[in-house]
Amino acid sequence: MSERTLAIIKPDAVERRQIGAIIQRIENTGFQIRAIRRVHLSKAQAEGFYAVHRERPFFPSLTAFMSSGPAVVLVLEAAGAIKKWRALMGATDPAKADAGTLRKEFAESIERNATHGSDAPETAAYEIAYFFAGFELV
Ligand code: ATP
Ligand code: MG
Repeated sequence: MSERTLAIIKPDAVERRQIGAIIQRIENTGFQIRAIRRVHLSKAQAEGFYAVHRERPFFPSLTAFMSSGPAVVLVLEAAGAIKKWRALMGATDPAKADAGTLRKEFAESIERNATHGSDAPETAAYEIAYFFAGFELV
């Protein structure tokens, strides 16, 4: 059974012109890209996206970063896409990420960590619907 997850190429990676390199890794790993869009989130849109983290100390800084410049949002599909994409991204903190992962290669810090991925089927459904209407998933 194929599964879908929401991926973001975060503003730090877009600023460093790493969109192409990251998408190449996505395709090489066997995901189908079902939707893709460049967005510049407002602070309120970033807060809505990361609402589960609103009580965390890093929430103001995280949402400022996520609204600081353009990002690329994608819907990825594969068997076990949620776990598969998180495995390709690596640990949240690039200092702890395994060799060969995107965050090891592309991330700057625990906050400016290049990519996002949904963490469960429920969050994937929320996050995909946050950015895309059903007819845009092709
Ligand atoms: P994401 O949800 O972006 O895929 P994640 O699931 O690996 O990342 P979360 O715990 O959901 O990590 O945190 C969301 C984001 O908040 C992280 O990707 C990172 O940008 C930021 N973040 C997490 N922990 C910290 C921290 N201790 N300090 C600063 N920023 C943090
Ligand atoms: Mg998360």
